[in-house]
Formats: sequence, structure tokens, C-alpha cells
Amino acid sequence: MVRTYGHLIDGEQIAAASGKTFPVENPATLEVVAEAADGDANDVARAVEASQTAFDRYWRRTTGRERAALLTRFAEIIASRVDQLAQHETIITGRPIREMRAQVGRIPDWYAYYAGIAQTAQEVVAPFGPQYLNYVQRLPLGVVGLITPWNHPLLILTKKLAPALAAGNTVVVKPSEFAPTTAVELAQLALEAGFPPGVLNVVTGYGPSAGHALAAHPGVAKIDLTGGTPTGKAVASVVGGRLGKVTMELGGKAPVLIFADADLDQAVAGALFAAFIAAGQTCVQGARILVEKTVYDQVTDALVSRANAIRLGDPLDPATQMGPLVSQRQLARTEQYVQIGLAEGARLVAGGYRPKEPPLDRGYYYRPTIFTDVKPHMRIFREEIFGPVTCVVPFADEEEAIRLANDCEYGLGAAVWTQDVKRAHRVAQRLEAGVVWVNDHHRIDPSSPWGGWKASGIGRENGWDAYWDYTQTRSVIVNLDPTPFDWYAGSERYS
Ligand code: NDP
Repeated sequence: MVRTYGHLIDGEQIAAASGKTFPVENPATLEVVAEAADGDANDVARAVEASQTAFDRYWRRTTGRERAALLTRFAEIIASRVDQLAQHETIITGRPIREMRAQVGRIPDWYAYYAGIAQTAQEVVAPFGPQYLNYVQRLPLGVVGLITPWNHPLLILTKKLAPALAAGNTVVVKPSEFAPTTAVELAQLALEAGFPPGVLNVVTGYGPSAGHALAAHPGVAKIDLTGGTPTGKAVASVVGGRLGKVTMELGGKAPVLIFADADLDQAVAGALFAAFIAAGQTCVQGARILVEKTVYDQVTDALVSRANAIRLGDPLDPATQMGPLVSQRQLARTEQYVQIGLAEGARLVAGGYRPKEPPLDRGYYYRPTIFTDVKPHMRIFREEIFGPVTCVVPFADEEEAIRLANDCEYGLGAAVWTQDVKRAHRVAQRLEAGVVWVNDHHRIDPSSPWGGWKASGIGRENGWDAYWDYTQTRSVIVNLDPTPFDWYAGSERYS
């Protein structure tokens, strides 16, 4: 029996106002594994109303310490359900269980971190001058809307949800149509942890209907979205049109710079990890592997032979290293970009096809793919593919490496592989990216700011930045001066 998930509004799972549902597919088998409520503006209005009521009635009056206690309990409950949640995410996203266990296992860290901030955040007294006491309060924004993608469904939701709740906001989530059900499960766990009904609501549905309605709703103070850059531009203009706040975590095309002095075995392992984890469907995918000329052939050969050995298989099998892409749309997009690369004159040296052996021929599988002979003007070098496709490009020296790395509309992640500590910092300091790894990739922590330069986004997740972004200030200026004040003293009085 396929389970039907409702929206989670005001503590109850309820059907869509229209009564409609949509299917959730397992991309490895193409079986329908769940039905989810197909939300529209009516459902969003109901969720925003529940959220506003919860905010006004009790949530806005909770103390940081009370919210910290709930977040801590939430972290404990999630930690006790990692296996179930990871398995659920594997089934709906196709990402190998090995990856999802590692990822979901980190999620409690975010709630624990923001529990710490909720009870330690201090307000400031501004140095206004001796005759004044100016205290600056930090207040929640009210109802906030979180719009999330399918590639790291619970992790990305958590990066937004933990600071939003810690700062005292109530929340309406619109998860991706491809991975809507774990968001509903998480909201159930929040109720179990003791969060009052209405504090966390989930409306499932499609971007142009439920997502747009949330972005356009005048009662939603902020929209925090992770998604593609075109989606981010469209949603930011809707929210901007009503002067709402936004945080936008958008696309990327991360460069991986490998210098000849790097530990090359580690650099190759790191570049493969960068390029192919989540079947390449990550915003910081190592999509442009830049290699110093003197070691280019050696590194390319190693990348190709190791990419060809990556084990595709059943995502629930712990031995599987790569699952299918999430959807027919992502598979078609990947295949289209491989054709574009070939037409542009790039050389395919690994992958470039769907596996034909059963049972992989059934799902949206695609072999890890590597192009060489790639020129910086080519679309496969410049545009986000969001599939298991990467390019290897040689550079002559540090200047050229930095120029190639920065020659991109995106600026989210970047990595530098070198054993020369001076070069590592010198290069890191010139990369136009919000996150730079040295001799690593993909590492993330709740304390570490995450977000993009240029077309990769606006605002930051993680750390204090994300917390402050979920607050607004009220500056209370108290006059302490006993001397009477009358600006117009002495002017003629009218009776
Ligand atoms: P999309 O941009 O397709 O969708 C993101 C979310 O926005 C989904 O919930 C989607 O709904 C919703 N949406 C789509 N259109 C609208 C609209 N008009 N109004 C409101 N909401 C809308 O991204 P994907 O889900 O395909 O995710 C992949 C993208 O996310 C990549 O570009 C990737 O780089 C980026 N990303 C960025 C990260 C970062 O930290 N910067 C991290 C991870 C991914 P639905 O899908 O249900 O239709």
C-alpha cells in the first residue's frame, strides 16, 4: 500500500484543499512510493494563518532558553531516527544509503548548535552617549517561508529551520516536489519534541503553485530558498516586489585547483568526491577540475580509471557508491549537456552513457562522465549541469588557474589542492567563492558560514549570520537627561 502524506498544518496532517495528490517516485525503480498532498494558494493561506496564530499566541513570547530546550530535544529525537530518515531519503532521492546515513547523522548538530545560540545570544547597548540608554532588541521576523530542493532534502531544510526556530520565528516549509515526504516526517518529530502546533508547518506541492503562493503571501516576512539560479531570480523578484526579505542559496560550478605539488592520490580522490557524490547533483559539485600542466596527463588518467570503477547499484545496498539521478528531468538534462559537450568539440574520456545492465537500465542511472579538451568558452565549462559530468582543464601557472577558476558567473564553492602552505592561502584569498576548501571538499559545519558570491546567492546559511538574518532589531532610545528640552522655546505661542 502506498502511503499518502498530507500537509502538516497546525499539528495535523491534512489533505489538500483541492483534494489532489501527486506521486512520489523511487528514481532507482520508478515505482511510486508515496502520494503527497498537492498544495495550492488555499493550503498556503491556511498554513500561514496557523503559523501567524502560533506566533502571536505563544511562540513570540518564548524565551531563548525555552526554545533551546525544545531544539535540544528535537536533536535527540532526530538522532534516534537517523536510520529510518536516511532510508526514507535514499528511497525518494536515489542517493546511496552510505551517503544519506552520513548526511542525516550530522543533522542533530544543527539543532544543538542553534540551541546554544538561542540561549546565549546577547543584545547590545549602543554607545549613543552619556545622556541616553540605547538598547537594541533582537526580535523574530514572524512567519517565514522555507523553499527547499531535493538533493539534500533534510539537511538543507535543517540549515534554514534551526536558526529560524532558534530566533523565535514560526515556519511554513515548501519542500521539493521530488522529495516532499521527509519534511512531513521531520515536522511530525518536531511535534513529538514538544514544539507547539502551528510553529512548524509543511505544505507540499509544486514550485509554480504552492511555492509561488508562499513567496507572494504578504504575511510571510522572509523567504529562504535553495534552488537553481533561475528559480532564485524569479522568487526573489516576487518577494522583493512586496519588500519581503530573502536568503537565496543558488547554483554553482565549483573549480577544483590541483597543483603539481599536491599529494596527487589525495587530490584525485578529493576531485572524484567533489564531482560525483550525490551523482554530481550538488551545488558545490567539482564541475571544473583544473590541473597544472606538468601533472595533467597523470591526474586525468587516474581520474578516468577511478571514475570507471565507481560502483552503480541499488541505493539501499551499503556497497553502492552511486545511485540514479533524482528524476527523468535531471537525466534528460545530463544527456543533453553531454551532447552539447560533444558538439562543442570536447572529448569524452569516461562515461557519457546510461548503464544497460538490469536492474540499472530501469532507473535514472548515468555513468560518471569526464570531458577533456574543454575550452573556457564552452557551455559545459560555464553552465551548471547538476549531473555526474565534470571537465578536466590544464593550466600553466597560478595566475592562469585563478583566472580560469574565477571566469564564471557562479561563486559558491572552490577547492585548492597543494602541499605548499603559502600557495594554499595565496590562492584561497583570490578565489571568488563563499566557501574555499584547502585539500578537501564538501565539508560543512553549522558554525561555518555557507553561501554564494555572484549568481550563487544572497545571504548566508550557518553560523551567527543565519541567526541574525532571522531577526530584526528594535532600537529603544531612552533619554536620561533631567534638563527640560524645548526646541521651540521662546517662539510666539498661538492660542
Ligand atoms: P529548483 O530551482 O528547481 O527548485 C528549488 C525549489 O524551488 C523547489 O522546492 C521548487 O519546487 C521551488 N520552485 C520552483 N519554481 C518556483 C517558483 N516559481 N516559485 C516558488 N518556488 C519555486 O531546484 P532543484 O530542486 O532542482 O535543486 C537544484 C538546484 O539547487 C541547483 O541549481 C543547485 O545548485 C541548487 N542548490 C544550491 C545549494 C546552495 O547551498 N547554494 C545547495 C543545493 C542545491 P518544485 O521542485 O517542487 O517544483
